[in-house]
Amino acid sequence: MPVDYNQLKKDRAADWREELRKTLTAKERTKIERVKMPERPANERNKDFDEVPIGLSEDQARTEASRCLDCSNPTCISGCPVNINIPGFIKEIERGKFLESAKVLKQTNALPAVCGRVCPQETQCEEQCIYNRMKKRPVAIGMLERWASDYERSTGNISIPGIAEKNNIKVAIVGSGPAGLTVAGELAKWGYDVTIFEALHEYGGVLVYGIPEFRLPKEIVRTEIGILEKMGVKLVKNFIVGRSASFDDLREEGFKAFFIASGAGLPSFMRIPGENLINIYSSNEYLTRVNLMKAFKFPEFDTPIVRGKKVAVIGGGNTAMDSVRTSLRLGAERAMIIYRRSEKEMPARIEEIHHAKEEGVEFLTLTNPVEYLGDPDGRVTQVKVQKMELGEPDESGRRRPRPIKGSEYLIDVDTVVVGIGTSPNPLIPQALPELETTRWKTIVVNEETMETSIPGMFAGGDIVRGGATVILAMGDGKIAAEHMHKYLQSK
Ligand code: FAD
Ligand code: SF4
Repeated sequence: MPVDYNQLKKDRAADWREELRKTLTAKERTKIERVKMPERPANERNKDFDEVPIGLSEDQARTEASRCLDCSNPTCISGCPVNINIPGFIKEIERGKFLESAKVLKQTNALPAVCGRVCPQETQCEEQCIYNRMKKRPVAIGMLERWASDYERSTGNISIPGIAEKNNIKVAIVGSGPAGLTVAGELAKWGYDVTIFEALHEYGGVLVYGIPEFRLPKEIVRTEIGILEKMGVKLVKNFIVGRSASFDDLREEGFKAFFIASGAGLPSFMRIPGENLINIYSSNEYLTRVNLMKAFKFPEFDTPIVRGKKVAVIGGGNTAMDSVRTSLRLGAERAMIIYRRSEKEMPARIEEIHHAKEEGVEFLTLTNPVEYLGDPDGRVTQVKVQKMELGEPDESGRRRPRPIKGSEYLIDVDTVVVGIGTSPNPLIPQALPELETTRWKTIVVNEETMETSIPGMFAGGDIVRGGATVILAMGDGKIAAEHMHKYLQSK
């Protein structure tokens, strides 16, 4: 989305910002050391599901905020897919107006407490911060975003965005992950009658069924969804669009436009011998059992999970890191990541890799499973792996892993979690045969408007991109909402 530089300039020219800039010179600001997030000790936190980072103190947040130079050309903003006014919210922290800071965040981001915790800032806003050009560590934008939104929640004084007069035009959203929630928030602000349909029994998509409590407490997701409810968004759970009702049924009920945000929840497997043995899970099933169904509290909650002692997790993304760290918390004595490239190519956030290592996870990189072996009861007992080397870059730009002949060896395991990726659930394309899809079953959209091949039907997030990130899903939602509004107004 284009950044509104005129508005940013106006905000920056406010008297209080001018005065604040004068309180320290740029040289003094750049001399301040970047804050370090206080965290629970690794050997304590790897035994429970409580959150790992403790959060900054008020002093730490204000000191970190004073590192920001309030640049006239804030390059950081172009790194944010939803264009948060980054110096705007940071300067509010520096001057001690914390609730104002949260308000600035919410002008463009409906889920700041979520993004402050899970966004890969190191490859987005923080990568574009001017400090990098001075060979210094960037302003800790993510930690400050988390701090301001946590502060607001802790006061109970949560601001609800202003809403235009109701226009009674009904819009349906399929899926309550970050893409669907973003569209709901935007359209509710403009007065639409918005309903989100969710297949599961909790709202939030991957934020509740995938990302574990120790990284993103569910209470935070619930609070942010509660704000949408206060804005008049209706939420319907246990409702599978395409099964519980067809799109035609929904049209008959008066829905005039649709946003499909059904994610990419279909797990991928490697299709190697033995992959059907007992105690080999997909990351999706493993994490859904633990996070959504609370299997870590079994028997208080009635979903069981195997508490493996020797656990191998296959993959190098966030899903694999979440699974392996979950296995430690369920009592694993040996928890391993098995990844076919080197650590440099791992798609997981750097912070998650760092946390996993601190907590005792072993990293077997340049190693690939080729077969699983089991006992006579069909339970997995060993994984045969092969060593790999890196060749030329492939179409993803990462160096292609090549097997080294004769390097196979066996590792004892009692549980395996396969976290090598996901693809879109085929249900929506099946329910709408006229909907154009790619060969990977993602939905084809016009990237400028997010409209699909069916007029009035828009889509975004993982169902369009394949497995991506929370903030990219939200960015899609922003574009889609704007064009859904235009579409509905033109009718
Ligand atoms: P989702 O969040 O997948 O939500 C889709 C929703 O649609 C689901 O709730 C689903 O039940 C519902 N649905 C599907 N079909 C239907 C239907 N027919 N009717 C009704 N409802 C339906 N990204 C980051 O930025 N940082 C991270 O740290 C990070 N960690 C991750 C960890 C894990 C374990 C996983 C799996 C992903 C992670 N991601 C992370 C990726 C990120 O969560 C996704 O890119 C993002 O959630 C996609 O949002 P979405 O709204 O498109 O879909
Ligand atoms: Fe502040 Fe860095 Fe953005 Fe400049 S680029 S406004 S220093 S966060």
